Amino acid sequence: MVVIKLNGIVQGIGFRPFVYRLARELNISGYVFNSSSGLEIKVRGTKEDLHEFLHRLQTEYPPAARIENIAISETAEDFDLQDFIIRTSKKDSGVTLVSPDLAVCSDCLRELLDSSDKRFAYPFINCTNCGPRYSIISDLPYDRSLTSMKDFNLCDYCLDEYQDPLNRRFHAQPVACPRCGPHLSLMNNNYSHVSGNPLTRAIELLQTGKILGIKGIGGFHIACDPCNQDTIIELRRRKSRPHKPFAVMCHPQLVSDLALVNEEQIKLLSSAAAPILILPQVTPFPLSPLVAPDSPNIGIIFPYAPLHYQLLSSGLKYLIMTSGNRSDEPVAKNEQDLGNLCDYYLSNDRPILNRSDDSVILPAHRHNIMVRRSRGYVPYPFRITKIATPILGCGAQLKLTFALAEKENLFLSPYIGNADSKQTFDFYIETLEKYKHWFKIEPQLTACDMQPDFMSTRFAEESGLPLVKVQHHHAHIAAVMAEHLIREPVLGIAYDGTGLGTDGAIWGGEIMLAEKGEFHRLYHLDYMPLPGGDSAIRYPIRTAFSYLHTAGIDYELFLLDTMTRKLLSRQLATNFNVFRTSSMGRLFDCISAILGLYPEITFEAQSAIALESICGNAYLAEMKPYEYAIKENLIDIKPMLQDIIKEKQRGISKESISRKFHKTVIDFTVTAVDLASDRTGVKKVVLCGGVMQNRILLNNLTALLEKKNYHVYLPREIPVNDGSIAAGQVYVASFQ
Ligand code: ZN
Ligand code: ZN
Ligand code: FE
Repeated sequence: MVVIKLNGIVQGIGFRPFVYRLARELNISGYVFNSSSGLEIKVRGTKEDLHEFLHRLQTEYPPAARIENIAISETAEDFDLQDFIIRTSKKDSGVTLVSPDLAVCSDCLRELLDSSDKRFAYPFINCTNCGPRYSIISDLPYDRSLTSMKDFNLCDYCLDEYQDPLNRRFHAQPVACPRCGPHLSLMNNNYSHVSGNPLTRAIELLQTGKILGIKGIGGFHIACDPCNQDTIIELRRRKSRPHKPFAVMCHPQLVSDLALVNEEQIKLLSSAAAPILILPQVTPFPLSPLVAPDSPNIGIIFPYAPLHYQLLSSGLKYLIMTSGNRSDEPVAKNEQDLGNLCDYYLSNDRPILNRSDDSVILPAHRHNIMVRRSRGYVPYPFRITKIATPILGCGAQLKLTFALAEKENLFLSPYIGNADSKQTFDFYIETLEKYKHWFKIEPQLTACDMQPDFMSTRFAEESGLPLVKVQHHHAHIAAVMAEHLIREPVLGIAYDGTGLGTDGAIWGGEIMLAEKGEFHRLYHLDYMPLPGGDSAIRYPIRTAFSYLHTAGIDYELFLLDTMTRKLLSRQLATNFNVFRTSSMGRLFDCISAILGLYPEITFEAQSAIALESICGNAYLAEMKPYEYAIKENLIDIKPMLQDIIKEKQRGISKESISRKFHKTVIDFTVTAVDLASDRTGVKKVVLCGGVMQNRILLNNLTALLEKKNYHVYLPREIPVNDGSIAAGQVYVASFQ
């Protein structure tokens, strides 16, 4: 007989019924069962039939499955079965992977809309190909009794389907129908029940400009009408979020009314992971400009829960669907967690056990950049080069994640949060404990950032385990090395906001040689003074003042008041609370403020995004850059500042200056990489860090470097921003 062992995501997504049907069709006898490490199949048949069986097994498997590994062996053993059966699960010592939550499939969607179906208009419809997974698990193995469905007893109708190997709902753990499953409810902001049909009432409320908390798969959304200006103003006021763009959910058929989108992007939007994609807006933009003020882009997400399709009824074509959380807190799982943000709540009685936000992807030239990796992707692990001891990477502070790794698996947590609040810390610990338990990993070594004030650093220090402190930008580069299984030396370009350097300065414009868990800083932006650290980040105009002052340029920033100017001058003269920085993010802030874009920002990278968006689709290749100098290991941008001010005074447009600035950054980066490569002989180049979300920079750098025969590596599913730090920490620590 032939023994086939599969691992990856092969449980809870209809793999056994698929094998069953295939084997029966081909007259192959034997059996299939779930083991703790995956799926095992034992079969007997003619050579031709087995050949076809193996081929189709690997090509026609269910859409939500992911095969990591398949081992096929022949043994002399035999069994006395004449047909093919599904046997009960066997426990062994291996680790089962948990499927991410899956967007509703087309079969369920059809039934949802079919008035003759038992689950017609039932918002919790699902099957083995779709539905919640990660969000409903309390423990493993993945079995209904260990999910948030345990208190919903299957009715006879559902049970029949659940037990029928030929049914699409065979062993679909969250299977439910209106008779036995969860139900919607509508509440006002005092959490009292509102009568009437919850769905129709909710749609009416949204249409009349109300703000609703909507319980989804991985957490709550806050929803409202993206055409209603007053409602958006009110939502922005309640969320204390004056400018940061909101994502919009729209029916797949209407996406081209909102955004410029290609086939491949539609496929990604419609995938089981159903991420938010940041796409260019169409002009004129049919929604309120307050959805994404001053932005040429729009975050689009397709409906992924059956309820979303029901909400997007004829009267409501689009919905703002923003993460349901109070500022500085993780996404809410209960309506009570949302404070006074909503007028009403469309909720239900299926608890959310494991929270995850919507994932966010930024499509770039030939690559997609992961901005936030959460729902639809977690808790699927990354395959890494085998490590000797289990390691915990504790992450950074913004875009906080942790990474838990053992042997060849690295589990990167969902996006935890952006701040140092108690709720964020609790969510971090809660998720970490679950991951350790589910995936049976007890870390023997921890790794953290060098920044002593981070909550993640303090946590690592208190863990009592041997600790490796990893420089922030080294971690950015190492994360990409981990994802691409790179063991050889690389040249790393880490362009980022801030991260503490080994010399106590704030780094972020770094070109380094990274090798075997170590790095050598080869080139970096020459240090500039940053008065007041965090306050300079909040007020880019202060960075601009400081940079111009240091470059000896006499230029009046008209958006800076006299008082602040005097204060900053004194601060720079006395060097009180002034940090030295090589940050690329701050350089973008500085130029943006010189051009008068944002003297003050209300969300991270706001001014850098504005600087990128005014470039348009410029062709930079032929353009001449501004002056700069590379001396020893320093990139001196002061000559560029001189040039920019001169052009500004000559009345050159901000669009043109921004383009030429981008060109200059690209130019000195490639020059520095050439010099670094000459010195080291290394031709592999890794790009990472928050600034790499700038697509003009990323696309042009990638294209130019590849033209010069460098092998360019970008993060694929590892986030490009600080969401990558934890994975990089694990990589570096693995060399200890
Ligand atoms: Zn389905
Ligand atoms: Zn039922
Ligand atoms: Fe960073």
